[in-house]
Amino acid sequence: MRSKIVAGNWKMNKTLKETEALLTELSAKRPDTEAEIIVAPTFVNLATAVNNLESSVIQVAAQNMHFAENGAYTGEISADMLLGIGIDTVILGHSERRSLFGETDDFLSKKVDTAMAKNMRVIFCFGEELQERQADRHFAVVESQLKNALFHLDASAWQKIVLAYEPVWAIGTGETASPEQAQEMHAFIRKTIDEKYGASVAQNVTVLYGGSVKPNNAEEIFSKPDVDGGLIGGASLKADDFVEIIKAI
Ligand code: PEP
Repeated sequence: MRSKIVAGNWKMNKTLKETEALLTELSAKRPDTEAEIIVAPTFVNLATAVNNLESSVIQVAAQNMHFAENGAYTGEISADMLLGIGIDTVILGHSERRSLFGETDDFLSKKVDTAMAKNMRVIFCFGEELQERQADRHFAVVESQLKNALFHLDASAWQKIVLAYEPVWAIGTGETASPEQAQEMHAFIRKTIDEKYGASVAQNVTVLYGGSVKPNNAEEIFSKPDVDGGLIGGASLKADDFVEIIKAI
């Protein structure tokens, strides 16, 4: 079922104390909303965040996980480890994982399969780089990212998929896709899904926009019909900014 979501990806930011302080501030300032609010702190602070938010509507997600059940994968985190501390939502395919850590569509499809097998929800990120947009290849790139990583799934699995279109040139750069560019791509994403799975899956999948969403541009971006919310990086690290973005939805 399509829902409104505002998710904060904290990346490799915030120590334990800083995490606790931000969660306390967020809980105090959180506006009433029907939208889901999700935060994704770094791995070492996830259990604290889950405990801290036990009686809160704010949910906790992981920023990544490995596809293997367990074993010799130094430095990695498994689905069961996340589930064991009460986390059933994971961000996969963030552009930083793709560009800095070499994660490919093929590799990501295995992670998606593990998440589905474990009944986890995936926030799946994808989006084109600047030169791909400049070469007018952005639709083709997005289509292939979706097809390569997700189109082997059964239609029923899509209930557990949230998409996050994040044009790489807009992430952490202060440059945002215009609301029209976001809407155009989100409509294309739904069309592409419709062609493969039909209208019901396409209309029910939640599609977030990510890339320099700030308090001053969130409302206009979120007002577009095919934009169901946002995945927020930098602006989710300050309670006041994140709260303003939540209010915008
Ligand atoms: C992100 O990293 O997912 C992101 C959208 O970052 P920012 O909001 O800082 O551009």
